Amino acid sequence: MSTNENSLELLREQLDATNLQLLELLSQRAELAGQLGKLKEAQGVPDFDPVREQQMLDKLIAANRGPFDDATIRQLFKNIFKASLNYQKEEHKKHLIVSRKNQPDSTVIKVKDTLVGGKASIMVAGPCSVESYQQTREVGAALKEAGVPILRGGAFKPRTSPYDFQGLGVEGLQILKRVGDEFGLATISEIVDPRHLEEAIQYIDIIQIGARNMHNFELLKAAGETRTPVLLKRGLAATMEEFLHAAEYIVSRGNTQVMLIERGIRTYEKWTRNTLDISAVPILKKESHLPVLVDVTHSTGRKDILAPCAKAALAAGADGIMVEVHPNPAVALSDAQQQLNIPEFHNFLSEVKESGLFKA
Ligand code: PEP
Ligand code: MN
Repeated sequence: MSTNENSLELLREQLDATNLQLLELLSQRAELAGQLGKLKEAQGVPDFDPVREQQMLDKLIAANRGPFDDATIRQLFKNIFKASLNYQKEEHKKHLIVSRKNQPDSTVIKVKDTLVGGKASIMVAGPCSVESYQQTREVGAALKEAGVPILRGGAFKPRTSPYDFQGLGVEGLQILKRVGDEFGLATISEIVDPRHLEEAIQYIDIIQIGARNMHNFELLKAAGETRTPVLLKRGLAATMEEFLHAAEYIVSRGNTQVMLIERGIRTYEKWTRNTLDISAVPILKKESHLPVLVDVTHSTGRKDILAPCAKAALAAGADGIMVEVHPNPAVALSDAQQQLNIPEFHNFLSEVKESGLFKA
């Protein structure tokens, strides 16, 4: 070997050794950042602190003796800071009770005789609003005939206009219970006010928290104090991270029986009422152990595409489907255009079942 080749080899060895030293230091730094992240989490302080980051950069620039210029040093360290921040975020995720990293086994929720999140797929159906005993009973009878175990129906309706039908309130919950008892169906209804919870859970088997209230933290906390299963809808413009944190509000209060439901998000698209975010299904299933359902009615607002969307949701791993059914949608007091009538519901169910995606 020539002298030149010898020194090349030597320098390469030194570079390799330096790389390993850098790696060791980076790992040490990440561990320190992890410890810091834990302390910050306990104190409720955010990880990213721009003032502190600036101070660290200033110190490094002051100490920079070259040969890298200041801009390069700044760039390199900013990347290191970013990596530490990402690591802290991943660590926080592990600490969420709803996280699959925290609980690898899927949560299965028993409602009456029905398991949600278990081996079998689940169908939840019923009118947008409970309007009368007769109307609810007709739907209840159809569900019983079709073997659908959970009846939905809104009694406290969060309407866009205060002049629109606001729901029957507690009377609506009582009707739901009467029909549920008559046909052996579990019931689900949206509650919008924490003050109504205590009374409501005498009548319903599942508390629905609607899209507009996903960020109503007092309601989430109050639902977390009950031991009644909760169906939490994704907010109109909520990220999946916000959605899971909303669920965390409930489970952190001790009520671990939470089901998530994707119901479409607001986008610029006008040909559907909302945009069904199908990617949310596998991501939520991966990130969380909670059951994940898809509301095909509110996400699309279109009766003509309910079956393909339900099939897509099941193919993506959804544990169940929610759909609105009304004996006479044309005269429904809310969401008249998007509810299926009873024969349409039977067709919808057959089509979904025939796909083989709805697990028995
Ligand atoms: C509902 O399911 O009755 C409802 C109002 O849906 P969302 O909260 O998803 O709009
Ligand atoms: Mn509706």
